[in-house]
Amino acid sequence: MKLDWLVGISMLAGTCTEAQECRLVVDVRDTGGQVEKDARGEVLMAAETLATKMFRGIDVDIRFRSASGRPKPVANSCGAPILVSINSGAGHSPVSKGAMAYAMPFAASGTVIHVFMDRVAGSNGVALTTILLAHVMVHEITHVIEKTGEHSPDGVMKAHWERADVEQMKCAPLQFAEKDVEQIHIALARYSTAALTE
Ligand SMILES: [Zn+2]
Repeated sequence: MKLDWLVGISMLAGTCTEAQECRLVVDVRDTGGQVEKDARGEVLMAAETLATKMFRGIDVDIRFRSASGRPKPVANSCGAPILVSINSGAGHSPVSKGAMAYAMPFAASGTVIHVFMDRVAGSNGVALTTILLAHVMVHEITHVIEKTGEHSPDGVMKAHWERADVEQMKCAPLQFAEKDVEQIHIALARYSTAALTE
């Protein structure tokens, strides 16, 4: 009986600690592209919902917003919002042929993530395009949070997803490696501390 009570207290304490972490804000600019116009907004919204769920699964509070108009500041934000541009194609971007997106983790400001919808959509249907878009955004946002281009051997931070990974995504989202979960929380804790000491 007493033991149960103690466990209850420690669980509560854990919840309180996590609640102090800052909220990650991501502003998404959709510049038009491959997915059919009607389906496009739906795909993006569903992908953002899935990406939010993936981050919430590791206790990261994230909020996606549309970059159109003038977004209001968010209380307890982890610094400036991360800017994501959803482009129709790679254009003259300096990336490899197969890359669906790239991030600039060390950029001090401006758009730090570019997604190429023609490569994400490929010949996939709406459902898989949505799942891939969510994973691509989570992967690149993680690079920006961690401020590194490092990859993990498995999961969402794997350098190249193979067929088996994509099949897995269709059933359940790819997981974060333990080291990524740790690094993400260390980085977010730094933002929270900075906000308190400034
Ligand atoms: Zn990567």
